[in-house]
Amino acid sequence: MSESAVEQSKLLIREAGLRATPARVATLNLLQKSSSPLTHAEVAEHLSKTGVDKATAFRALNDMTEAGLLRRTELGDRVWRFELIGEGEHEHLGHPHFVCVDCGQVSCLGDIKLNQRSLSTSTQIGRITEILLRGQCVECL
Ligand SMILES: [Zn+2]
Ligand SMILES: [Zn+2]
Repeated sequence: MSESAVEQSKLLIREAGLRATPARVATLNLLQKSSSPLTHAEVAEHLSKTGVDKATAFRALNDMTEAGLLRRTELGDRVWRFELIGEGEHEHLGHPHFVCVDCGQVSCLGDIKLNQRSLSTSTQIGRITEILLRGQCVECL
């Protein structure tokens, strides 16, 4: 973990109005490096290597979600996953996700953008909270 990444995480956490505790900094850094949203269990497992216990990891995730730093998503398997809210992204609707129906691997599709028109073609849609694509990943195909 580079010095500047740690400093940047501390700054983000403080800007959100929280104290930059080691557990929060480690959680934010982990999610920043990840190309997919992570579950409580995955974050807790990574953080345990640095001596952070499970309950502290859970609290760090929840605190930073409440503070608007992280987004919590549920992708159809009733498991909460956490990821960083990207620059310019909405707190609740970020980018689409891809889920492999065979192995369950979740990927962020950050570069796929839906325009205003594709969101408004149906009069039934009130507010979109999640865009989810399902299929087989390259490993499972
Ligand atoms: Zn797969
Ligand atoms: Zn994502």
